[in-house]
Amino acid sequence: MIITPNKLYKILLKEFGDLNWWPMDKSYHEKNGSDPRFEVIVGAILTQNTAWSNVEKALINLKSQNMLNIKNIFDVNITELQGLIRPSGFFKQKTKRLKDFTSYLKTRYQGDLDYFFDRDMYTIREELLSLKGIGPETADSIILYAGNLPIFVVDAYTRRICERLPLNTNISYEEIQKFFETELSHNYTKKELTKVYNELHASIVLFAKTYCKKNPECIKCSLKKFCSFKRDLFQ
Ligand code: SF4
Repeated sequence: MIITPNKLYKILLKEFGDLNWWPMDKSYHEKNGSDPRFEVIVGAILTQNTAWSNVEKALINLKSQNMLNIKNIFDVNITELQGLIRPSGFFKQKTKRLKDFTSYLKTRYQGDLDYFFDRDMYTIREELLSLKGIGPETADSIILYAGNLPIFVVDAYTRRICERLPLNTNISYEEIQKFFETELSHNYTKKELTKVYNELHASIVLFAKTYCKKNPECIKCSLKKFCSFKRDLFQ
């Protein structure tokens, strides 16, 4: 049986419901008058090469010092910031990335995320990709989850599921992204697509962590009837 991105979306939505990503602490931002979109940006940078549970520890540290806003990250000294984000790993490199990113937002956009995101999505993407340490997955996570703009995020979990089903065995990030976006954009309006990409990426991550792990739990998997990897495994 053939599975398509839209079928995958519908099955995972039925299984997991709305996951309402990106995880962020709205009450913290309400209390402190800060912009929750900046938490997404910080999380997207800190999650590079590490598990989300480590990022959460770093975010708790940042919140405890009221650091989850552009101004305070821009002002804080480097050693203090390194100490706060240490749990996320590669903390020296990530401190530099956070400093560079906030400096870029302050210099070019007066630290105003409305100003930053209120532009053509592909111009934003190109600009993000020109920053050192911001690759396609980080850039697209920022655009989708902070900017609320319709772009599909590809990660290692997406690649694993694409390969195993198989759904799409292209190697390049952009080819896999295009494959998902081409089919889904024929089925949903532009407005709906942001929500679809948001939920689909979130549910792929949850699905891969729950069932399609390195050693998959195929018996409980709702995609098993489509999966050739499972067929090979149990032959
Ligand atoms: S059947 Fe197994 S290998 Fe295939 S998608 Fe499900 S968990 Fe992954």
